[in-house]
Amino acid sequence: MPRDPYEVLDVPRDASEQQIKKAFRRLATELHPDVNPEDPQAEERFKEAAGAYEILSDSERRATYDRYGHDGLRAGGYAPNFDGFGSVGDIFSAFFGESGLFGGESFGSGRSARGAGGDVAVTVEIDLLQAATGVAASAEYEVVERCDTCNGNGAEPGTPIETCERCGGSGQLQMVTRTPFGQMVRTGPCDVCDGDGRVPVSPCKDCQGRGRRAVRQVLEVDVPAGIADGQRIRIAGRGHAGSGGAPAGDAYVLVRVREHERFVREGQDLITVLDVPAPVAALGAELEVPTLDGTATVEVAPGTQPGEVLTLRNQGMPALGRARRGHLQIVLNVVIPRNLTHAQRELAEQLRDSLTEENLVAEESMFAKLRRTLRHHQAA
Ligand SMILES: [Zn+2]
Ligand SMILES: [Zn+2]
Repeated sequence: MPRDPYEVLDVPRDASEQQIKKAFRRLATELHPDVNPEDPQAEERFKEAAGAYEILSDSERRATYDRYGHDGLRAGGYAPNFDGFGSVGDIFSAFFGESGLFGGESFGSGRSARGAGGDVAVTVEIDLLQAATGVAASAEYEVVERCDTCNGNGAEPGTPIETCERCGGSGQLQMVTRTPFGQMVRTGPCDVCDGDGRVPVSPCKDCQGRGRRAVRQVLEVDVPAGIADGQRIRIAGRGHAGSGGAPAGDAYVLVRVREHERFVREGQDLITVLDVPAPVAALGAELEVPTLDGTATVEVAPGTQPGEVLTLRNQGMPALGRARRGHLQIVLNVVIPRNLTHAQRELAEQLRDSLTEENLVAEESMFAKLRRTLRHHQAA
């Protein structure tokens, strides 16, 4: 005897249509096969929830159930039968459309639900230099694969495989289902043979006859030069294996780029800060700056002011798929000396007393400089 649908959806007897819909959506999301790929109980509970929703979302059926219970529904010719569906994914499509509840690219939208394998998400972490040059990264992940023992046919090696009685060997079933959006006829993979058309007499012990099993795998990813933090790389066919010869899902590799202690990335440009002691800024000097792949020498002009920016062209990040690189912007941080010794103090006093207006005239106002710097960054 099926459970009470109100209990299944955890809603009160007088729940509104909205409440029922919401409860089912919540449950369905929780029990989605992409969320619980290896939990057969989740699948059963999902079917139960879908059955409960079919009853409570139809006012006539709900009234019948309220008065006569499940027996009344059966007497009225109604019995939920989600067993006719190939997979939870199919039921999902029936209720929510092909895109499912998630609607996200990473959950295989657009793929037919015919036994195709699910997508997997994998993360790799690289540093900024690797992001600039590109890198062959590898990531370990868990994936459902074809079982090696039975070669995916689900039979103990050496035991026969028979034609599926339920679908007559076609692997496909026509199903008529009632959904909240009306009656739908659809063809789906046979639930007994999983679309294979054949069933093993003695199921393979390693995969319990499913032809698939979870394994840890190493995914080699060619991370291209110029990749930015948070970008994804799709690797076709490296997701979960499909059933009944259906194609495997894809792997989506999320690339995380670690923060660098010296460089901040802004588009293709890199920004770094270079400390310049005030006397050096006044006198001018050649200074070494770190670059992404080594060091470079920059010329600090005499009279350099705080916040001035030097640009090393083509020392930034490459653009994805292009050879051209961005620039390295060096923000000069003029450091005023502290903790002067007696001798230094005397020198500073001498300098102070000798300063004339000529020494202090600004080539451009602080405001103009700020505006120039901003424009510079926008143009970059
Ligand atoms: Zn097997
Ligand atoms: Zn079949």
